[in-house]
Amino acid sequence: MRVLVINSGSSSLKYQVRETDSDTQLLSGVVEQIGSGDVPDHGAALDLVEAALVAELGQDPGLEAVGHRVVHGGERFAEPVLVNYEITRAIERLAPLAPLHNPANALGIRAIMRKWPSLPQVAVFDTAFHRTLPEHAWRYAVPNELYTEHGVRRYGFHGTSAEYVTGRAAQLLGTPVRGFDGIICHLGNGASVTAIKAGRSVDTSMGYTPLAGLVMGTRSGDVDPSILTQLMMRGEYTAQELDSMLNQESGLKGIAGSNDMRAVVAAAAEGDDEAELALAMAAYRLQKFIGGYHVAVGGAQAIVFTAGIGENSWQFRERVCEGLGALGVRLDRMANVEKSREPRVISASDSAIKVLVVPTDEEGAIADQTAQLIRDSGEQQAPEGE
Ligand code: AMP
Repeated sequence: MRVLVINSGSSSLKYQVRETDSDTQLLSGVVEQIGSGDVPDHGAALDLVEAALVAELGQDPGLEAVGHRVVHGGERFAEPVLVNYEITRAIERLAPLAPLHNPANALGIRAIMRKWPSLPQVAVFDTAFHRTLPEHAWRYAVPNELYTEHGVRRYGFHGTSAEYVTGRAAQLLGTPVRGFDGIICHLGNGASVTAIKAGRSVDTSMGYTPLAGLVMGTRSGDVDPSILTQLMMRGEYTAQELDSMLNQESGLKGIAGSNDMRAVVAAAAEGDDEAELALAMAAYRLQKFIGGYHVAVGGAQAIVFTAGIGENSWQFRERVCEGLGALGVRLDRMANVEKSREPRVISASDSAIKVLVVPTDEEGAIADQTAQLIRDSGEQQAPEGE
């Protein structure tokens, strides 16, 4: 099935056309600066996407469905869903939980409804894979009304990637997914780690928002919440200032001055103390999560690295694994530095836990889930008009 995959942000729209039967990518691109003079809104962005499709694929690009990456599915969405107006409104109603993302995702959906009203659309939620967390993992130890009245709980993100990588890792090990216990380290500019038991997510480091957990490119990950309340009570920072500081000025960037792992690794190799500290902090934080999740899953069969840093930075993988000796983890140094786009084992044969590198493919996973849902539902009709 030929699927247009859309990742619609507030000021950018990323797209790919995928052929799911042959697992090929026909084209990909991004429209930026939505909201500026040239591209006033998501409808105008979609006009540019259409022009690109026609230029590459001909007057009739042959699209059969659209799959959307939707960041927040709240408690309602544990699976991909076929989009209609009610679903679109539900995505918009979740805006308080993802103010930067969900409204933009819904704008993308509405723009497609206007442009190609007969094209079926599927929403694939970044939170959905984590709906299997047990309550003791997703509740915060705060008064109940914060959960019941405000939806304050752990949701987790990067679910599409974690699910896809789990499937690939199980395949590589020759285990059925339902027999796979492991730890998925999705290390990109945003980073999270997920505990997988019997193929399902049982804990994950991101929380109510994607700010929690690991030291990331520009995000702090976990900090003592009192730091924030103290700074606000003293009147030194506003909530907005702290929010942008923790999301945009922290992590590797806050400590080493750059959010690009390549630059931080290179600086550390040249003796830059701040870069060295940032790497040590990021690796140590991840090691602590891996230790904890090894316990959570009752003994992991595999630790899996994925996303920009996880797939490409042998230096960071080495640093992380060097601190996992107590778990019996031993890297094969040669295998670790090898460059490949294929899923592979990088641990030594006597390692107690296998270490894998598995390239993620969120767009491919969204296209596959979209095609699957449309086939399963036999639903090839346009959504009902409002
Ligand atoms: P992502 O968000 O998955 O695109 O990942 C972005 C992160 O991957 C950035 O921190 C990049 O510095 C990092 N990255 C990409 N390529 C490499 C590489 N060859 N070596 C080290 N880090 C890389």
